[in-house]
Amino acid sequence: MCGLEGVPSKVVRVIMLAPPGAGKGTHGQWLTQETGAIHISSGDLLREEVASGSHLGRQLAEYTARGDLVPDDLIFSILMPTVIAAARENGGYVLDGFPRTMPQALRAAALGAELGLTSDAVIYLTAPEEELVARVLERAQREGRDDDTLDVIRHRLAVYTQETAPLVDYYRGRGILLELSTNRPEAEVRADLRDWFEARDLMRPVAEQAQPSQQTG
Ligand code: ADP
Repeated sequence: MCGLEGVPSKVVRVIMLAPPGAGKGTHGQWLTQETGAIHISSGDLLREEVASGSHLGRQLAEYTARGDLVPDDLIFSILMPTVIAAARENGGYVLDGFPRTMPQALRAAALGAELGLTSDAVIYLTAPEEELVARVLERAQREGRDDDTLDVIRHRLAVYTQETAPLVDYYRGRGILLELSTNRPEAEVRADLRDWFEARDLMRPVAEQAQPSQQTG
């Protein structure tokens, strides 16, 4: 890619794969600052639609409030325009919260191949279950999300194990998975991420990087 200001020297397309509370938002945002890619959070897009009070938003809330996954077709119609626009504008993306089921992963891979937007890396973050629950409950106090109650968190973790965990082996098989524990200081996780991306020449030169902002969980 060219060296224009704000344009990454190399396009990076990343998927963040992690159970609730493992830090995909936090580390996904940091990666976007470091690589110049665009951060796309499926959860944030869904919450915006719910907050708009639209008919679609009311439909979505029925799933998200219970901690169930939104049906794949709805996810695709909401997410794809944003992903394609981001890729056109910038070429790079950090997908935070998508794909989350095998059908989503397979459909995204087919679409990515068709559009020349195949992912380069899948960052798989892990932490012990009790740590995940504790972090989400702590976030509940800060952000007041209606799906951050104890019962709903337990359900989201079960849904993760059933629907999303199988993606780990799928991406490992494609040779693009980096597994990292987040049960340690954030700086250590970042250092591992930086090493891995730099080894693949996917980080922007330091002078182009944005200043770090407040972590959001
Ligand atoms: P977390 O990882 O903490 O559960 P997210 O903000 O990523 O939170 O997602 C919140 C909710 O939005 C999920 O519990 C689910 O209901 C819905 N959701 C987000 N992404 C997807 C997706 N790719 N497919 C289906 N549902 C999704």
